[in-house]
Amino acid sequence: MPNPDQIPSEGELTVHKIGTRLQAIKMIDLTLSEKLIKEETGKDPVLREVSNHIKLGWKNQCNSHLKPYYRKREELAIENKIIMWGGRIVIPQGIQKAVLHYLHRGHPGTSAMRALARFYVWWPSIDEDIDRYIKLCHKCQENRPNDPELPIYSWSIPEKNWERIHIDFAGPFEGKYWVVVVDALSKWIEVRPMTKTTTVKLCAKLDGIFQG
Ligand SMILES: [Zn+2]
Repeated sequence: MPNPDQIPSEGELTVHKIGTRLQAIKMIDLTLSEKLIKEETGKDPVLREVSNHIKLGWKNQCNSHLKPYYRKREELAIENKIIMWGGRIVIPQGIQKAVLHYLHRGHPGTSAMRALARFYVWWPSIDEDIDRYIKLCHKCQENRPNDPELPIYSWSIPEKNWERIHIDFAGPFEGKYWVVVVDALSKWIEVRPMTKTTTVKLCAKLDGIFQG
């Protein structure tokens, strides 16, 4: 059976080292390292203020740029110099674009992109930024009529790897169909080519994945 625990490689986000609250996001293959998030958080003037308030306490009257954080003050925490809101990383401004770029992979459309973001990351204007990003993407605009209204990640989070998988076919691409198996927890992806998409062939492929 594939081992999702081996996924994060150099340059990928290996935030699982930080602590249990980050379990939900440990496998996201953001091409952002923990180090980069830490550095950018340290450089971000607003997040520096937020960090200080988390450590030293909040004043009742705070400046308007701090209000979105003040509202969440009970749920904000610092883990290894990274600000967390619940299980989500508070992304410093310097790398927000890179995160949007990552979340947009595969042209998911607005609702799926928002749903995906909700699992992993937050910053005050994230929803508006996602809308703006999608509006500028021709491909997402073209795909819009088929864009599911329901978030694709609306399932509950399983407790163990391979407890629930999602299977879909892609293609035809390069003359083949491709069966895509995604582990719901780790987001580990297995892709296999298939010449025929019959149930028998699919079962054989799945056997190959899980026994191989
Ligand atoms: Zn797009």
